[in-house]
Amino acid sequence: MKFKLIYPRWSKLFTQTEFHLPPHGPVVFAASLPEYVEVDFIDENLQEIDFDDPVDFVGISMMLTIQIKRGWEIADIYRKKGIKVIFGGISTMLHAEETMNHADSVFLGEAEGRMEAVFSDFQNNRLKKKYDYLEDHPPIEIVGTARRDILQRDLYNYRGIQMVDLFHASRGCRFNCYPCAVAYLGGRKFRPRPIEKSIQELESIDNNRLFIVDNSLAQDEEWEKDLFREMIPLKKKWCSHPIQDKPEVLDLAAQAGAWYVYQAVFDTSDYIRERIKRYHDHGILVEGTILLGMDNHTEEDIKRLIDFLLEIQLDLAEFTVLTPFPHTPAFRELHQDKRILSYDWDDYSADKVVFQPKHMAPEKLQELLKYAWDTFYHDEPQPVKMFKLFQHVIEKEKADNTYRPRKRDLANYAFGKKIR
Ligand code: SF4
Repeated sequence: MKFKLIYPRWSKLFTQTEFHLPPHGPVVFAASLPEYVEVDFIDENLQEIDFDDPVDFVGISMMLTIQIKRGWEIADIYRKKGIKVIFGGISTMLHAEETMNHADSVFLGEAEGRMEAVFSDFQNNRLKKKYDYLEDHPPIEIVGTARRDILQRDLYNYRGIQMVDLFHASRGCRFNCYPCAVAYLGGRKFRPRPIEKSIQELESIDNNRLFIVDNSLAQDEEWEKDLFREMIPLKKKWCSHPIQDKPEVLDLAAQAGAWYVYQAVFDTSDYIRERIKRYHDHGILVEGTILLGMDNHTEEDIKRLIDFLLEIQLDLAEFTVLTPFPHTPAFRELHQDKRILSYDWDDYSADKVVFQPKHMAPEKLQELLKYAWDTFYHDEPQPVKMFKLFQHVIEKEKADNTYRPRKRDLANYAFGKKIR
């Protein structure tokens, strides 16, 4: 059976350097499909959909809220042709009711152990309108190695440099942060995969550079240390969300190949300053994720925060504005207080102000977002900082003889005419 799995396109943040990472949700999902299903994967960010290509069944996998309107359009085209469409993925779960208007079926939750039944229903013409497993997580032990073979790997590069592969070692998160939907999507219980399964998957990835996409590795210190210990012999280099902030953990992380971490920087405290320093002391770079427009942010606070980021020498920073995605505490509160200004999901790109900030006009926050990008990257533009990030990983790879020169030499990329 030919199953076309589509990942709808979206626009990158207005100031962000344009590059594309191989998607993770679709390759994890594909591993749960019955063997008789032949998957034809299309990442619409990089490939065109051939709507005339004969196909039995279409799946639309959506991660971001800004993918959903395009996902609906694609489904409408196929359904007009009489081809059935099923939706899944994170933003399907966040926008399930609306998505059902464009779907033959929506799948909510984690796919492992469920797809035999769904595909059998499809073949017997009894597909359900909704499969809801949001609160019924499959045993974490059955999560298999992602099907990266469905990707057209050569498409995922930045100026000739191969992009990282995405991998996950756990699901769920113990926390329930204000702007985040993970508690709704993956539950409040941290669910680590068995370490041997994670290592098996890591060994199968033909790429030395990875992005460990777990919500936060800083959830179970013993598990985290065991994982890092087992990763050391693999000599992979990786970035991730935060790591437990203890010298012993950071030391093991560095030995296991930690390259850089994404770290939320929400204030100008000594706690943050010292945390960033500890990462740096262990040879781990830091990309700050900076959310502007929280209720405690005045214009002055935001300007001070940007100066602080330069003082603590963050290696990269990504600025976004608070965006009230459905099923987050932020959405519940702002919706209830009638502070949401737009419910057009195409505006939910995290670089457009869609709510009424507490201490300023929406236009002022929009202006401050631009100010943040311009100021942080004024003396050293983003491509230069990215070059330094790549230079750092190359140094690490050279140190343990894992460096494999890419198609295009990094020096050409940096010092030729490539940086604009
Ligand atoms: S922001 Fe991170 S730590 Fe907070 S709930 Fe979401 S995934 Fe968990």
